[in-house]
Amino acid sequence: MSRMDDIVSLCRRRGFIFQSSEIYGGINGFWDYGPLGAELKRNLKNAWWNDIVHRELVGPDGKPIDMVGVDCTIIMNPKTWVASGHVGGFNDPMVDCRESKERYRADHLVALGSTAPDARLYVYVDGDEEQMAKAEKSLTKYERRDALDPAVHVRRSFVVLTAEDRARAIGPHAKETGTLTEPRMFNLMFETHCGAVRDENSKAYLRPETAQGIFANFWNIVDTSRVKVPFGIAQVGKAFRNEVTPRNFTFRSREFEQMEIEFFIKPETANEWYAFWRDYRFNWWQSIGLTSSNLQLREHDRDELAHYAKEGAGTSDIEYKFPFTDPGFGELEGIAHRADFDLKAHATHCGKGDKMRYFDQEKNERYFPHVIEPSAGADRGTLALLCEAYTPDESRASKVYMKFHPRMAPTKAGIFPLVNKDGMPEVAERLWRDLRKTWTIDMDEKQSIGKRYARMDEAGTPYCFTIDGESLTTNTVTVRHRDTQAQERIAIDSVRGWLAERIG
Ligand code: ATP
Repeated sequence: MSRMDDIVSLCRRRGFIFQSSEIYGGINGFWDYGPLGAELKRNLKNAWWNDIVHRELVGPDGKPIDMVGVDCTIIMNPKTWVASGHVGGFNDPMVDCRESKERYRADHLVALGSTAPDARLYVYVDGDEEQMAKAEKSLTKYERRDALDPAVHVRRSFVVLTAEDRARAIGPHAKETGTLTEPRMFNLMFETHCGAVRDENSKAYLRPETAQGIFANFWNIVDTSRVKVPFGIAQVGKAFRNEVTPRNFTFRSREFEQMEIEFFIKPETANEWYAFWRDYRFNWWQSIGLTSSNLQLREHDRDELAHYAKEGAGTSDIEYKFPFTDPGFGELEGIAHRADFDLKAHATHCGKGDKMRYFDQEKNERYFPHVIEPSAGADRGTLALLCEAYTPDESRASKVYMKFHPRMAPTKAGIFPLVNKDGMPEVAERLWRDLRKTWTIDMDEKQSIGKRYARMDEAGTPYCFTIDGESLTTNTVTVRHRDTQAQERIAIDSVRGWLAERIG
């Protein structure tokens, strides 16, 4: 089993993540969080909200940052998505296989084989080691001879293949040649209808990003909140994309959660604010436990930039090396200077145009503020925390432990009476009742102490307190540290302060 298979299996076994509607065979691209996963994801979202909206952050101008939160609807007036460009342009190229009935993203497919017109092309999904190995093995002797010559043996993206090339291509799950269709553009927005009549007029979309709720409310917030540019609006919420090929566990899902900030600035300050948010966000992911070299910050090349960002201060991605992207990286969060693209587009589409420009009292001037957008995924973030935490250790009964940062750990501490008698359960229960007023605490009285530690190791619980015979006479407990397995004895009365110091 690969490392990723091990992580997925632990997530299922310990109740971090399940397939949505599993009893009916699941549904592709949708995932549920179980008791431990729900706590983990909530810890991530709460930390984000707390650090972005509630905590005092000082900007590059040396002043405290103004940030407010919103909670907007998933279904918005469909004109929103015309203005944002999603109705016209939120498309992925899609390829169907007529034989296997599988569907693929054309830009994720690689065709392997000779350029000779009679040779077969073997197509695999980029990054899928198994499929690639199968494609390489499928080369005939004659094709393999060609394969040794880099001039004729090539790996090409499926999107550049001609009709003749496609006719000699074999799909990842097919046996025959020529069963893959020409790539067709496919809009990623989920459609629905509002009201009883299902026609063009009642058509609406599930939001593909949370950002547009923020932009559409910009004017409401300026009017009601006494905020002045520079300031930010933050939102956490669901987004939906009918991804052509959902894959890699929760990494590419059809329903997911985003944590987005739109930070409105004076146009001439774009460079400094862009650099500020890029660095702050990178450090933030490290502060919640993504400390290894698996986390990287990647500045986009100019030719990768979105149309609105070409002239801007820049775009960068915070990326994580997941087991399924290794040696490559996958995007956790994008930070982009979106200029005044969105506010201008909404002003134009709602028919008010330049009248919607923001009035800057200090400058005595009207303009559309520019925007720096740090846009992160809560599910990809949770997945990165799970992958980072997963630590095999043959010396333990559980063979593996989850090394979560204490702030992210779903359960902060376990409390165990050594035996279920002699007054120990009563002492344990008193401690549990006190601590659970503040934290998620697991009380476990069953099985051997070794098995209880093993359960907590798999859940990633950083500390366990055991009440033993000595506890009754000396009013102390032993603390066991998850990562080192070291134990120490502390006074029962000091447990609350001891935990607060380490968890906050
Ligand atoms: P990708 O190129 O991987 O499809 P994207 O560039 O389209 O991602 P954005 O539109 O920038 O992504 O969305 C912001 C964030 O939302 C991403 O960094 C990611 O964390 C999250 N996200 C986007 N699409 C998905 C998805 N299908 N499943 C889970 N999270 C997603």
